[in-house]
Amino acid sequence: MNAFNLPMRPILLALLALLIVLYLVWAIRHGGIDRLTAVILIALTGVLVWQGMAERSWTANQARLSAVATQIAGTPVSVHCQRFSETYFSASSAEGIVGVDENGAPQGEADLTYSACRDLAAWLSSNKGSPTREQMIAVHVLTHEAMHVSGVMAEGDAECDALSFDARTAQLLGATPKEATALAAYYRTKVYPSMPAGYRTNSCRWA
Ligand SMILES: [Zn+2]
Repeated sequence: MNAFNLPMRPILLALLALLIVLYLVWAIRHGGIDRLTAVILIALTGVLVWQGMAERSWTANQARLSAVATQIAGTPVSVHCQRFSETYFSASSAEGIVGVDENGAPQGEADLTYSACRDLAAWLSSNKGSPTREQMIAVHVLTHEAMHVSGVMAEGDAECDALSFDARTAQLLGATPKEATALAAYYRTKVYPSMPAGYRTNSCRWA
């Protein structure tokens, strides 16, 4: 995490937009601005405001996902959602990553990819009645990472245990019991069987 990812970011963007607007008003009053510059500055203000609003809802979603992952893991979980800009710097193909200390123990932080967070955000703002496959997988990814933070480090075990928590995750995120059960059943029957061998165990009692 860097300073620009802190909750300060929407405030900084709003301040920047305000400064531009103040400059515009000052420049127009003093007749010192041409039309093209004014149009560019107004467009820039629009982009900053839009970015600030997007950042605010991204941050709110992160807080919501962290709260639910904490309940699922039974230990504090801080979810970090990658921004679109960060996807270029991520060499990982996994949908989520949990940091570990030098002893291999989880540190309580779960990084979710931009696409997983985007799908989760879309599902959160939907009526949850007809989720896409990607949205259902994204809900499971959150459960899976919560399993890691709870101390289940082996991929096969985390994936198996997550199957038993998916419905609870979905419900804590706002799905009805029926929607939550359907989502968990979809993952268990349509996605889990085609996961790579390392993510499955022959003895998974929830599969
Ligand atoms: Zn994993």
